[in-house]
Amino acid sequence: MTEPQHLPRAVAALVEQAATPEFTAWRRNIVGLGGCANPVHLVGESTAFAADSGHALFSHSSAAYGGRLLVPCGNRRSTVCSPCARVYRADTYHLIRAGLVGGKGTPETVSDHPRVFATLTAPGFGPVHTRRERNGQVPPCRPRSPKERCPHDQPVGCAMRHSTDDPRLGEPICPRCYDYAGAVLWQARSGHLWHRFTIELRRELARRAGLPRTELRLAARLSYAKVVEYQRRGLIHFHAVIRLDGPDGPSTPPPAWATADLLTDAVHTAAGRVRLPSPGARVIGHRTLRFGAQVDVRPITEHGAVAAYIAKYATKGAEAAGAVDGRITTARHLVLLPVRVHVLRMIATCWWLGALPPFTSLELRRWAHMLGHRGHFSTKSRSYSTTLTALRTARTEHRAREQYRALGLDDRPTITIGHWRYAGRGYSPEAALVAATAHPTEGESTRD
Ligand SMILES: [Zn+2]
Ligand SMILES: [Zn+2]
Ligand SMILES: [Zn+2]
Repeated sequence: MTEPQHLPRAVAALVEQAATPEFTAWRRNIVGLGGCANPVHLVGESTAFAADSGHALFSHSSAAYGGRLLVPCGNRRSTVCSPCARVYRADTYHLIRAGLVGGKGTPETVSDHPRVFATLTAPGFGPVHTRRERNGQVPPCRPRSPKERCPHDQPVGCAMRHSTDDPRLGEPICPRCYDYAGAVLWQARSGHLWHRFTIELRRELARRAGLPRTELRLAARLSYAKVVEYQRRGLIHFHAVIRLDGPDGPSTPPPAWATADLLTDAVHTAAGRVRLPSPGARVIGHRTLRFGAQVDVRPITEHGAVAAYIAKYATKGAEAAGAVDGRITTARHLVLLPVRVHVLRMIATCWWLGALPPFTSLELRRWAHMLGHRGHFSTKSRSYSTTLTALRTARTEHRAREQYRALGLDDRPTITIGHWRYAGRGYSPEAALVAATAHPTEGESTRD
């Protein structure tokens, strides 16, 4: 939020507001938003009834706040709303951690179940400038004879030792050789590739356990939580916690054959086996979509570090790869984007392919700002652990219970009935004044 532009007017409105009987509740509501950049306004009411007697115990109405109840926007991305992203990150951390050591409704015995941390990558679509470190040394980017040239008469190698902040990192060595269509199509189908991977993984586990495919679910259940990370080259990685439980999920012990070693090998095999034909072969030539050869799978020893790692990426968007932060709506808009040339080429490829009939179902124009990726940033299978919604509900209920307790109503089982509707967004000048005073640091844009 920013300081109100017309400070005297905001102060006058605040003085006016202070004269109303709802002022204290109104102010508490704004302070309680935690500095949210763009809160949502709700109008309505809800009442909690005692489950046994049906008596109304407690009512909650927007009228108590002077007409509107403000709630945080809840946006995941730190570039959109840094305070809400922080809450999202903490929730994701607890969700991942619960799946590793138990808690929040997941039994603690899950910590004995085999689980691995896997990274699945995108394949190469042409050589890019890279920096590696080997024994504290940085070898040349791509050593080749200077005489070796691509069809565009460009050198195919690069003898430079790039610094960590070199803007060329992730850029193709020859942009015209780089397969932008392949890269964008891979990205657009990456969610489907992941889905195919989970199918292959179940098959592979059954094979290694000596079970018919259909009987795996009677012996063990696979669960996972994954997050997407954008690389400098604009393509994503999947990072995932993958766990094996007994037939009824986290509360049941896995069968004896289910070990972390077996799971590790099965992930490698399954990831290597996934193949998808890309759409539109007649238009842009045939391509087979698959994961990159670099599949990293390791046992989880430091659960806190893994949870923090996944939580960190859950609050980032494609802007981590140098892309833009909102949807691109016109070709004119596209030309003016303040992005790296490589990113612009990926966005332009989305725009170009998005208009061709074989690709319309991929909605490439709509997802151009995500460089073609249309999946969710972080997803998990149902049995992994608690859900973000459950965590949010728990938080709201905790507040409600505090209010009940303050009213002497204790912990009676209740049923809540209510109706709320959307009534707008943002801060009025006087509300912005209160928010800026309560959370002074949130005005600056925080990119982390
Ligand atoms: Zn927010
Ligand atoms: Zn280079
Ligand atoms: Zn070339």
